[in-house]
This record gives sequence, structure tokens and C-alpha cells, in this order.
Amino acid sequence: MRFKFPIIIIDEDFRSENTSGLGIRSLVQPIEDEGMEVLGVTSYGDLTSFVQQQSRASCFILSIDDEEFSDDRAEDTLAQLRAFVGELRHRNQYIPIFLYGETRTSSHIPNDILRELHGFIHMFEDTPEFIARYVVREAKAYIRALPPPFFRALVDYAADGSYSWHCPGHSGGVAFLKSPVGHMFHQFFGENMLRADVCSSVEELGQLLDHTGPVAESEANAARIFHADHLFFVTNGTSTSNKIVWNSTVVPGDVVIVDRNCHKSVLHSIIMTGAIPVFLMPTRNNYGIIGPIPRSEFDWENIQKKIAANPFITDKNAKPRLLTITQSTYDGVMYNVEEIKQELDGKIDGLLFDEAWLPHASFHDFYGDFHAMGQDRQRCKESLVFSTQSTHKLLAGISQASQILVQDAENYSLDKELFNEAYLMHTSTSPQYSIIASCDVAAAMMEPPGGTALVQESIAEAMEFRRAMRNVDEAWGEDWWFKVWGPDELAEEGMGPYEDWTLRANERWHGFGNLADGFNMLDPIKATILTPGLDVDGQFAEVGIPACILTKYLSEHGIVVEKTGLYSFFIMFTIGITKGRWNTLVTELQQFKDCYDTNMQLWRCMPEFLENNRRYEGMGLRDLCHQIHQMYAQYNIARLTTDMYMSDLTPAMRPGDAWSKMAHREVDRVPIEELEGRITAMLVTPYPPGIPLLIPGERFNKTCVEYLRFASHFNERFPGFETYIHGLVKEVKDGKTHYSIDCVRE
Ligand SMILES: *Cc1c(COP(=O)(O)O)cnc(C)c1O
Repeated sequence: MRFKFPIIIIDEDFRSENTSGLGIRSLVQPIEDEGMEVLGVTSYGDLTSFVQQQSRASCFILSIDDEEFSDDRAEDTLAQLRAFVGELRHRNQYIPIFLYGETRTSSHIPNDILRELHGFIHMFEDTPEFIARYVVREAKAYIRALPPPFFRALVDYAADGSYSWHCPGHSGGVAFLKSPVGHMFHQFFGENMLRADVCSSVEELGQLLDHTGPVAESEANAARIFHADHLFFVTNGTSTSNKIVWNSTVVPGDVVIVDRNCHKSVLHSIIMTGAIPVFLMPTRNNYGIIGPIPRSEFDWENIQKKIAANPFITDKNAKPRLLTITQSTYDGVMYNVEEIKQELDGKIDGLLFDEAWLPHASFHDFYGDFHAMGQDRQRCKESLVFSTQSTHKLLAGISQASQILVQDAENYSLDKELFNEAYLMHTSTSPQYSIIASCDVAAAMMEPPGGTALVQESIAEAMEFRRAMRNVDEAWGEDWWFKVWGPDELAEEGMGPYEDWTLRANERWHGFGNLADGFNMLDPIKATILTPGLDVDGQFAEVGIPACILTKYLSEHGIVVEKTGLYSFFIMFTIGITKGRWNTLVTELQQFKDCYDTNMQLWRCMPEFLENNRRYEGMGLRDLCHQIHQMYAQYNIARLTTDMYMSDLTPAMRPGDAWSKMAHREVDRVPIEELEGRITAMLVTPYPPGIPLLIPGERFNKTCVEYLRFASHFNERFPGFETYIHGLVKEVKDGKTHYSIDCVRE
């Protein structure tokens, strides 16, 4: 397999017709003869963006020839060189750097630069051919050392060209070539993707299910990079990672302590294991943003009280098997992990931090102790600590790439054999090898210093974005503009200290009330953008811009956001962020403002939407916003959803038992109007926010019913903006729509 990584030469004479130019260009042909490409440029240009070229280069040759160093620019040239080499090493510890001079020698270069170099080329002493071989050897060695174990083995295997008799049946893609549409598929995904799609009978790649060979080496490599004692790649998402951890330790009747704001995979885990959940309740503000579980909820006395009050727990002294916390909520709120460990070590057997949104945190000091595992962390004495991370959400993993990290306790280590039994319960015997490779590569990419630089960059861009939004706001003066949710203080430049991002009691911006100082932090790379119309107290303004309209508008203009709330939407600054992307968002928001302010006709500003939703024919953008805004205000929807999520929901049976009723069809399909007091057999989850509202076995209360009534009215009135509620069954009978939910037959 030949990879393209050119050797980059930076020399201001690269294109000149002088001896210096001739000299440097004489290197090009011999290098190309050795099978490498050359890219010649004449200046460092914009340093930061140029340094980013390091990711596609195999080597740099930097000229320090006579003129630049002899005349009055010498100081500048040296400073530039130092800055360039510094920036380069900030991201890449290993890429070879050569200096190239005609008469100058290393004695003219200060030591702090020299020590970063791989060699010094004297053009007129050696032949170009000799120099080329020397440079190419270093460049190739560097490239060869790049791939981590599993990816390397997979590339070798795919390039090897052996005939396979094993699955998958498409035989390296050949089957696709026998049909026209198959041909299209082949052309679209490319040969390598299909050649690398192999099955577990290929021995030299190792086994994911047994953690052997190159897979095991890569898992060990990732464990080292992420500071875990054990690390397991998972090829079907953190949904599965969570279930594996649960199944490894929880059995029917076990007590578990669970964040009420948890991903549905955790609720599925509760159902599947037959556990008895005791929920910790998070705060919530009236924007609809889920806040942290208050520090006091974690107090052991508090948890004991909850256990005592739970009607299904017979042994009140039973030790809870597992705690599961959403570490970094969707909106970016994180907990101080060391504080939780201190409080609960030995009281609960395992502490699981669901870090689906937080795999980047251990690569930057900025995140302090606000993530589960990192360098020099204390172990618990008794409790195992788990973290599950969606590599694909914030790092460079492809969909479903995920991993489980484990930190042993001082007195107790993970039983790997036992754990792997649970792993096998959830893992396909035909794992997708490109996902394994992407777990491997995503980890290797994060190895410092490169990974740290990547995280730094995404934080820095997120800060720039926040400042840019504030500048626009200032420029508009009294006129309306969007706000980015976050602390009032924002560093004027750079990142500022992390303390700026910790949550303090009763600050108005967060609206989560009386929190313990410093127990929580907001991750700045998660940006919730607030639209006008609703304040943090849940008060509706005269006019407003429901976020669902704005995000429809944005998607029609090529910007797809991560999540839409009532008056907020959410974007993330992952390591894939570019200046172009967020600047485009800012300009599109300006365009939207224009359209709104002039009440532009929908056929002009949202033609695609109108095409599919003729009901809005003839309306302007502002009119539409106003209609939806009024309906939200009429139902007081911000308060309603907050009340609904904060209301005391009484469990009538264990979640697993409710599911048993469902599986055996001992359920009734109950219309919304008759739901109050009934026990749901379904998980009921409104989108947004995608947080389960009711768990199988819980009774509907008045607020839940009121919310469902609102949702069905809203969906009738505003087609195209439907609130989707998982668990709500929609049926059309006699031309009328009916909504109902499956409830346990009592
Ligand atoms: C997305 C998510 C998951 C599931 O991750 P997948 O990789 O999509 O399966 C688990 N927990 C939380 C908190 C999530 O947001």
C-alpha cells in the first residue's frame, strides 16, 4: 500500500533562477526517483495554517541559505524558523525536519532549534542523490511508524491480495461488480473499504471477541493513551458498551443508582438485567436544558434514604451494584469525578461514567478532574470505575466506534474473564473491522502532543465563536440577536482558566439554582444557542423565534445542527471543526435575522420546506414564528416540560416486570385522555430533548398527560414541525389521528 505524504520544502528561492534556486531544485528529481513526492513552497505563510500541513507531510526541509541569514533580516528569519519548528513540535513530535544550507552550518543555529532536527543538509558537499536517499529514508521510516497495530495489520492484509474463501460473501467487493447497482456501491465506497471488510477467520488480525493479536495490542495501546487499566473496543456504540458493563455486574433484583437523565441504553440495561433502579434527580432550567444532579443527591445518607423509601427493595442494607451517571450531559455539564469517587468508594461496587460526549477530556488540563480517567488519578480503594465513550461522537471514529475504560481499585481488580462473558453477550460474532480500525486510529491520533493540540484547537475555536457572537450582539445594540448559553465572564482572548466554566450557586445564567460551588463545569466546546422569546425563568416574551423554525431554515441552507430544543439549538466544536464552518453559521444567522425582520415570504427564504408543507402558503417567516410562539406560550410549555420532568413519578412495578407484561401482550392501548394513573409498559421519550420521561412500570401523572395533549394538538396544527415522542402510537382511523400508549393491564 502506497500512501501519499509529500516531502515539503520551504525555501524562498524555490522558484528563483539563481544558484540557490537551482541548488534546492536539484533535490527534487532524486527524491521523486526514490518514489516520494515533493511540494515546494516559498514562505511559511500563515504559520498556524501552514503547520497544519504536517498531517499530510512526511518530512520538512527548511532552507536557511545565505541571504536570508546574512542581511538585516537574520533576526527575523531565525525567529520565524523558531516559531515554525515550535508550532510543528507542538503538534507532532516525530515528523523529520531537516535544515538546508549552502555555506551556513549548524553553528549558526541556536541549540533550542537544533535539538528538534533530524539532520542538516549541505548542498554542495554531497550529491543530490545521496541527500535524497538520506532524507527519503527518514521520511519513510516516519510514515512506517505511524499506523497503530490493528490498522497496520488490516492495511497489510487488504493490500496482500490473497483470495479469500471466508465470509463476507462479497469476497473483497467482487460480488458487487456483477450487478449495475452493486457497481455503483463499489465505486462509491471504494475498493479498500471492501477489501478491508473481512471476518474473524483471518488469523493475522487477531480476534476482537477474545482480545488477541493486533486487536489486543491496539486495545493496550489505547489503554495507555487514555490512562485506563483496561480498555475494550466496542463496535456497536456506547449503547452496547453500557449494556456490557451492566450485564457484567448487575443481575435481577440488584439495586442500582441511576441518573434520571440517562441515555435510553441505560434504561434498556435496567430492563434487561431486571435491576431495581433508584434515581438521582438532575436539575433543569426553563430553557429546557438539563442541569447537573446536585451534590447533595450523591450524599450516601441521601442514597440510603431513597433505598429505604423504595417499595421494591426488600433488603434495605443491600449494597448497590452500580452507579451510572451521564458524565457530560448532552448540553455539556460535567461532574468532578474525584469528589464522587470519594463519596461513594466502597459503598457501591462499580461507578460507571457514561462519557459518550467526553472522550476528548483526558487530553487537556483544562478539564481537570471533570472526567473519569486521566494521568495520575487516584484509585478507589474498593470500587471499580468504568467509563464508556463514543469515539465516534467527538473523536475521529466512524459511527458506532466506542470503548469501555476500566480503572481497578486498590483492593480489587477487574476479572477480565468474567467481564468478557458479558462482552460476548452483546457483541456480534462478525464485527465490522473498519470500526475496530477507527477505534485504533482515533486513539493513536489523540496521543500527546498531537491530541492535546487538537483538543486545544477545538476549545480555542469554540471560544472564538462565542466571542464572535457577542461582538455581533454588541453591534446590533438594542436590536435582538442570539445568545450562546454559558457563563457571563468570557476571556477576552485565548481560553481563560477553567474556573471560568465551573458552575456556582444561584448564578442566573445557568438557572439551576443552589448548586455546590465548583462541583460542576460546562464544557465550552458544547454550544447551546438561545433564540429570543423565552427567558431562563420560563417567561415568554411578546414575540419569539421557536428554534424548530430556525433549524429548518439552517438545514435548508446547508447547516445541520445536532439537536433542537424549544428556544435553543445545539452545536459542537469537535476536533473536526473548521473556522469556515462556524463562520458560515454566524453569517447564516445574520441572514435569518434579515429574513425574520422583513417577514420574508416563506417561498423565498424556505422554498423546500414550503414545497413539502403547502399549508403555510402565503406566510412570512415572522408570521410563522409568531404562530408557533403563541401556541408555546398558551400552553406555558417551558414550565410544563420542566414540571413534567421534575415531577415525582411513582414506580408501580419494576421496569423489567413491566416489560414482561409488554412482551406477553398483557397490555392495553390507552388513548391520551385516559392515561392518567395508568402504568406505562413503554419507555416514553419526547424529542427534543430525547430524555426518557417515563420508564416502564411508572404511572402517568397529570403533567405528563397534559404534555402529551399539547404534543398531539401541536402536531395537528403544525405539520412539518411535529414533536416526535417515542412510545406514543399514532393511528389513523376514519380519517382522524389517534394517539395512544401501551399500558400494563391491571
Ligand atoms: C449517544 C449516547 C450513548 C450511546 O452511544 P452510541 O455510540 O450512539 O451507541 C450513550 N450515552 C449517552 C449519554 C449518549 O449521549
